[in-house]
Amino acid sequence: MSRPHEGLEESLQKIYDEVTGRNPGETEFHQAVYEVLESLRPVVAKHPEYADAAVIRRLCEPERQVIFRVPWVDDEGAVRLNRGFRVEFNSALGPYKGGLRFHPSVYLGIVKFLGFEQIFKNSLTGMPIGGAKGGSDFDPKGRSVNEVMRFCQSFMTELYRHLGEHTDVPAGDIGVGTREIGFLFGQYKRITNRYESGVLTGKGLTWGGSQVRTEATGYGAAFFVTEVLAARGESFDGKKVVVSGSGNVAIYAIEKVHQLGGTVVACSDSGGYVVEPGGIDLELLKEIKEVRRGRISEYAEKRSDTARYVSDSPIWEVPCDIALPCATQNELDADGAAALIGNGCQIIAEGANMPCTPKAVEAFAEAGVTFAPGKAVNAGGVATSALEMQQNASREAWLFEDTEERLAQIMRRIHDRCLHTADDYGRPGNYVDGANIAGFIQVADAMLALGVI
Ligand code: GLU
Repeated sequence: MSRPHEGLEESLQKIYDEVTGRNPGETEFHQAVYEVLESLRPVVAKHPEYADAAVIRRLCEPERQVIFRVPWVDDEGAVRLNRGFRVEFNSALGPYKGGLRFHPSVYLGIVKFLGFEQIFKNSLTGMPIGGAKGGSDFDPKGRSVNEVMRFCQSFMTELYRHLGEHTDVPAGDIGVGTREIGFLFGQYKRITNRYESGVLTGKGLTWGGSQVRTEATGYGAAFFVTEVLAARGESFDGKKVVVSGSGNVAIYAIEKVHQLGGTVVACSDSGGYVVEPGGIDLELLKEIKEVRRGRISEYAEKRSDTARYVSDSPIWEVPCDIALPCATQNELDADGAAALIGNGCQIIAEGANMPCTPKAVEAFAEAGVTFAPGKAVNAGGVATSALEMQQNASREAWLFEDTEERLAQIMRRIHDRCLHTADDYGRPGNYVDGANIAGFIQVADAMLALGVI
């Protein structure tokens, strides 16, 4: 399962040096590129044609990057200023596709790491979508609905000119859900005078959205883990699961894990985590997080008989069989990995984008613990976005059950593709290499076919 830590192959090291040199200070982007390049050693050996056409070098350079001013007026009448981003990374397989993140930590390095990951993730889904990401350093926390609306309108007033159902199709990410997509779509429609449903995904069910899109990333992660377990002759039955986060991905991962027979004993937010040995009460969690947009500490207060709240301590100290990091990048470091391994955790599957640091991933490999990367595990969200685009194009609306079955099938295919590719390239059981190589080859072949562009 683990592979030796050989560092990068010589030609790939050159590419990595070029990336760090051209993009100084963008550490998350460097990290995401390094992780993919590390997997490509057996690919460059087998396929010299990729080097000849500079496919990997071109892949590391976004096709287009847009950075723009987003001015808006707060409820007190003061003018506020944020920065907006859209990085259109690669369109070899289809229109640029990827979410928008509104969070104070957003800067170019975060958007580029997410956009880079998105290329391979989207490729792995097998759907015709390229890779992109965008967002802003706008902090929605504590903002009124009207402030969020005015911000979204200002953001779209610049972004609309770069979008289109065949050009670039954003969706949500951290800080951007159905409410924000609604405000963004409303402004796009107003400016362009077109009801172009396929220009954004994650829309509401009454105005062009798809069933299961809200649940898709979390459900997809649980489906992926079902496949990992099945490959070992196991199931979720009786398994203790820890899920970090309590946003959209976490909530629906918890829901599906419970439906599949596992018990989620802990979840968290940026303030701390809550442990409930009998299983997280999902209705209460949804009420607090989705309806009231409150804190996880309120959950513990409401359930003081059975739940315990721990602040300022990592959730990874809670013993479990399976861990699903579903919060944010680099949330699980070497210490977290050591705690999980020490407590006998068997499977770590990333619901978020790049939540495990390289040191944590290395520790899992050394301990023989199964590790599945975000670009495979959380691909169900964007895959269901592609299903939404498909429904919009044909003016159809599929039933929940049918859409969920398609999602389950897509996750099964992604899982199997990762394992087969890992086998083919001499890395049996390695989901990281399997995902990176399978995702890469499909994009690389398309880039070769399309010529030097
Ligand atoms: N932001 C999600 C992701 O990380 C979804 C993107 C989409 O649906 O376009 O994949």
